[in-house]
Amino acid sequence: MGKKRYYNPQTNVFDLQKKKARSWDWYDDVWKKVDKCVFCDLKDRYVIFEKNGIVLTSNLFPYTDAHLLIVPRRHIEYVKEFTNEEWEALRGVMYVAKKVLRKAFKKKNLWFIYREGALGHAQKTVGHLHIQVVPYIDGLVKINYQPISWAPGEVGDRLKEESSYMDDKFEKFILKYGKYQPVERRIVVNGIITNSKNELLLIKKKNTLEDGWQTPSGGVDGNESLEEALKREVFEETQLRIEDVKFIGIDEEEMPILFEEGFVKKWRCIFIHYRAKVLSTRGGQAGDDAKEMRWVAANNLKKYRLSKLTQKVLKKVGIIS
Ligand SMILES: [Zn+2]
Repeated sequence: MGKKRYYNPQTNVFDLQKKKARSWDWYDDVWKKVDKCVFCDLKDRYVIFEKNGIVLTSNLFPYTDAHLLIVPRRHIEYVKEFTNEEWEALRGVMYVAKKVLRKAFKKKNLWFIYREGALGHAQKTVGHLHIQVVPYIDGLVKINYQPISWAPGEVGDRLKEESSYMDDKFEKFILKYGKYQPVERRIVVNGIITNSKNELLLIKKKNTLEDGWQTPSGGVDGNESLEEALKREVFEETQLRIEDVKFIGIDEEEMPILFEEGFVKKWRCIFIHYRAKVLSTRGGQAGDDAKEMRWVAANNLKKYRLSKLTQKVLKKVGIIS
């Protein structure tokens, strides 16, 4: 920080001090190569991050410190020309830009200035569609060139140190919000299990985003039948065996699933609900991914905070209202 650096693109003039400040970093081919689209000719030196044809790069004519650009590799001029994959990557790269500028430069507020249309359109100096990523400066109501402390190459170098961070953010963003990811569908069996006193078996799971008490449930593995899956899940979670398994209904829910690696992914889950009776309550204890288990009488259910899904199914079968 310290020394301010100025460049006036309107006059294309540096004063000596200013020129000195920027010279090592000056991309002097930009204005000379009038026969070439500069965004088709992005220099690796300034490229910070890239996914599926969408590039995050330093802006060589920064309005403010850490002013970046998002540019598709393909020369396109209008939003209609994006492929689905590029569009999705663009969303992810915008997200990454926001995150990394906050992390590396403490820039909290950004302006994303979307520029499309042919050369000359709305003062556009490059035909190639692009998005300006401008760290917002309080009181900046008119976009104009501001004093900067970081040369574009320095900005690029600093941000490139965050490449694994950016990869991670991009992956998580796409997993969570991506629309063009293959849909993960999962079949889950769920058991309303009662004992001879007509109490309901509830568990509390570990490693779940579904907070609260719930009925035993789990995904169907390999070639096992639905009933086998239910029996296995109940046994794993409670050490109890069940019988008299009766199908009661089916529904579907989009659910965030928490993976051991710590990321969250939305799955479409098909829930197949059963009623069953426990063979014996002896030896029951929480196990596997259950941390607690209880037998609860219907009139005591109010005292338990039930997971949303368990509430839904217990309402459907008339156990709670
Ligand atoms: Zn181009």
